[in-house]
Amino acid sequence: MNRAQGTATTVSFEGQSAEAAAPRALLEAQRAAFLDDMTPAAGVRDDRLRRLLGMMRANEEKIITAIDADFGGRSAQQTLLAEVMMVAGAIRHARRNLARWMRPITLPTALRYRFGSNTLFRQPLGVVGIVSPWNYPCNLSLVPAIGAIAAGNRVMLKPSELTPRFSELLAQMIAEAFKVDELSVVLGGADVGRAFVELPFDHLVFTGSTEVGRKVAEAAARNLVPVTLELGGKSPVIVDGSADIGVVAAKVMNAKLFNAGQTCIAPDYVVLPRGEEDAFVAASRRAVARFYPKGIDSPDYTSIINERHYQRLQALLDDARAKGATIVDLVGGERGSDPGRKRMAPAIVLGTTAAMRIMQEEVFGPVLPVVSCATRAEAIQYVNARPRPLALYWFGSDGKARDDVLRNTISGGVTINDCIWHFAQEDAPFGGVGASGTGAYHGEYGFRTFSKEKPVFYQSRVSGVGLFNPPYGARFDWLMRLTKRF
Ligand code: NAD
Repeated sequence: MNRAQGTATTVSFEGQSAEAAAPRALLEAQRAAFLDDMTPAAGVRDDRLRRLLGMMRANEEKIITAIDADFGGRSAQQTLLAEVMMVAGAIRHARRNLARWMRPITLPTALRYRFGSNTLFRQPLGVVGIVSPWNYPCNLSLVPAIGAIAAGNRVMLKPSELTPRFSELLAQMIAEAFKVDELSVVLGGADVGRAFVELPFDHLVFTGSTEVGRKVAEAAARNLVPVTLELGGKSPVIVDGSADIGVVAAKVMNAKLFNAGQTCIAPDYVVLPRGEEDAFVAASRRAVARFYPKGIDSPDYTSIINERHYQRLQALLDDARAKGATIVDLVGGERGSDPGRKRMAPAIVLGTTAAMRIMQEEVFGPVLPVVSCATRAEAIQYVNARPRPLALYWFGSDGKARDDVLRNTISGGVTINDCIWHFAQEDAPFGGVGASGTGAYHGEYGFRTFSKEKPVFYQSRVSGVGLFNPPYGARFDWLMRLTKRF
């Protein structure tokens, strides 16, 4: 296969600095390639997906090692589960369904427009830009790319500078498996990110913080580039009185401590029925001891990504403590936090108030604040008084209470009686709402996000629409009376 190999930095563009020019030149190269083949055949798209799968399989160990080094300790099994397995699963799912997703869809046609007919074409948009964060650096760069490639687009990726080893590896793996005008990587920090999102892409996906997402939306709006914003926020767990606290604590702690809480859909805080706090703490302690028997030294536990985030989390705890909260260390003693290795001990924060920063900012770490409520209505009111969350979790066995919460809260997605798993459902859309994001992807929803769904009306040789032509008169009036009936 004749592939022009190389990374973004090999592309030059006259009259501009190398850093700013390379992404723009890349975009132009990708757009030119797209215009040469605007609707790639299923076989072409499948070949790209097959190469991506091959790339993942061949580099599994390297991916695990690079992410582990970037975090200074990231569970290999959690990388396998959340990155390697999910990316490979998304590729296989797209390859299995590609032909069906690409098929034009016949739409209904109203009686008065027969014998014409309506068809919906799903057409590639062109070049899709993707900006991704550090917390799941492989998943959050490649899963959007899979949807965009399946839909027939060219793709430019800008991964995070906080995982430099993985981002370098990604650029290298992709340069080996793809032509630069098919799929390519632009490396760099926030400055490169800023220049990247100012490019006139045909669609832009941004996964990251709500704060940066706002700036990205502004930059994209200047070019009227459509955006998918996958942002963060505070995802609540609502525990019903009908729930088994032991089961809840184990499931919440498992989800919270996965990647040491550095997950966009991690349970951010838990809303407990008042009086259940002690039982919840005791069950959480037991669950943590079972999952991580050596506390922060367990090989399955993950470090905080960098010193800044470690200090940010400590500052959240200091602020809560100063304002009267109780911090319960779930492993305690000599197995507590270790700043040198950026390992933070799991903790629960009791006695929180709305004035504490920990109840205002996304936690993004292994610390779980508790809000105690006397009634379900109070719990719903607490959630609804805050920006719409990316995820919401509900635990209990009372179906009426569950449906009440489902009907009276709005969130990006929901898992009932567990946490996080709605994210893994390839046949369901994933995305936020309001401050937690705009748009959605995964599976067919991603395919649709990265396609123009173009309606085409086929006029028939035999058609009644000529009856509506001028000059208007009695015939027109009669037709108007008739159309009111249909
Ligand atoms: P971030 O917003 O700091 O950075 C994300 C990416 O944006 C990085 O590649 C960065 O280089 C780039 N960037 C930074 N400033 C930019 C600018 N001004 N213009 C354009 N690009 C810029 O986010 P992060 O710290 O890497 O990730 C953590 C956040 O991401 C959390 O808030 C988390 O909830 C959220 N997140 C959301 C999802 C989701 O699917 N909704 C998934 C993972 C993480």
